[in-house]
Amino acid sequence: MERSQVINFGPGPSALPESVLEEATKGLINYNGTGIGITEISHRSKDFAALTAKLEELVRTQLEVPSTHVVLFAQGGGSAQFSSVVLNMLARHRLLHPELSDEQRVMDYVVTGSWTKKAAEEARRLGGGRVNVVADSREHSADGKSFDNIPPHEAFKLSPDPALIYYCDNETVDGVQFAYAAEDSPTAFPFHLLKNQTLPPLVGDYSSSFMSRPIPHLADHAIIFAGAQKNIGPAGLTILIVRNDCLVDVDAAAKLGATPVPLTMAYKTLADSTSLYNTPPMFSMYVSALVLENMKNRGGLNTFEAMNRRKQEKVYAALKDGEGKGVFRLRVRDGSRSWMNVVFRGATEDIEKEFLASGESQGLKAMKGHRSIGGIRISLYNAITEEQVDRLVAFIREFLAQHTT
Ligand code: PLP
Repeated sequence: MERSQVINFGPGPSALPESVLEEATKGLINYNGTGIGITEISHRSKDFAALTAKLEELVRTQLEVPSTHVVLFAQGGGSAQFSSVVLNMLARHRLLHPELSDEQRVMDYVVTGSWTKKAAEEARRLGGGRVNVVADSREHSADGKSFDNIPPHEAFKLSPDPALIYYCDNETVDGVQFAYAAEDSPTAFPFHLLKNQTLPPLVGDYSSSFMSRPIPHLADHAIIFAGAQKNIGPAGLTILIVRNDCLVDVDAAAKLGATPVPLTMAYKTLADSTSLYNTPPMFSMYVSALVLENMKNRGGLNTFEAMNRRKQEKVYAALKDGEGKGVFRLRVRDGSRSWMNVVFRGATEDIEKEFLASGESQGLKAMKGHRSIGGIRISLYNAITEEQVDRLVAFIREFLAQHTT
């Protein structure tokens, strides 16, 4: 098939704007008129330093990152951050409270889906502190085992002085996302619960919603991280926004008994070297800068927020019709539904198979649900245009017409 015939609804790595990919191909051969391609140039050259500065500026200005926070570029994907966050934040806590035992050092996890479950498991595995599950969506689901909701605020049991409070804005596998609404909305993140703590060590995994809409209370976060391969660029790059007080001397913490932190994972190492401690994922950074520049030229984050809002509204509206007609069943409760990953089931497995096969034959690709939960998942990242969503919605409506009498 030709690229023009296909819409890639994959969950990540996902579609990127074609014009950006064309531009990136030029830079692969000859970056910025240097006569050397971006994968061949020195990461210590002034051209690459300028690229790093530009990428940082594009993140900073669009998300309005305050001067209290640094923007860092790391490797290892979102999964490496499951470990880095724990190691760095336990080191910070050790420096603040050297007298506490591992049992008294608590890490708070809000478990709303497969990715936070995994992150909490990694925290338990690394040790050095105890994991407290602040709230777990499964306990609030009808069957007691599904990630299909944001837990009610009353259920959140935060610890008094945790080493970190961890949440994931958008659960990519389950399609569960905190509502983008005032914080008294029952499914928004309850930032008001943090107001009794000074500098609450809030950590947000924004891997699959980064740059899709502004980040509420960004300045109140200790760490925000996001793998690039959904809205931003190719896999290999992880973007971090870290508050200055979380850039701690991990060796000093180790002398007090904290687990030693590999230097490549220590946020202070990254910050002290402007993310150039070792060779960074240069190609991914290059494409990410092109994507973010393209985004800025097309109106920036607020324009994309409005566009992403309309896209998901149209898709959920068509699926709700399908629910009314008994053809589809939305997996996630109203109010907790993701803008980026629309997750649903067919009334029967045969309907699911037919939907996927029929979509595939018309170029609507990569809509199969995650292997752990099955069903259908349609990802609507930034590169999916409104015209493509209209094509999808027409397909859904035609499918419904064929399956209702
Ligand atoms: N967090 C979220 C929300 C994700 O969607 C993913 C991957 O899809 C990860 C973390 C893990 O990212 P990676 O595969 O880059 O390690």
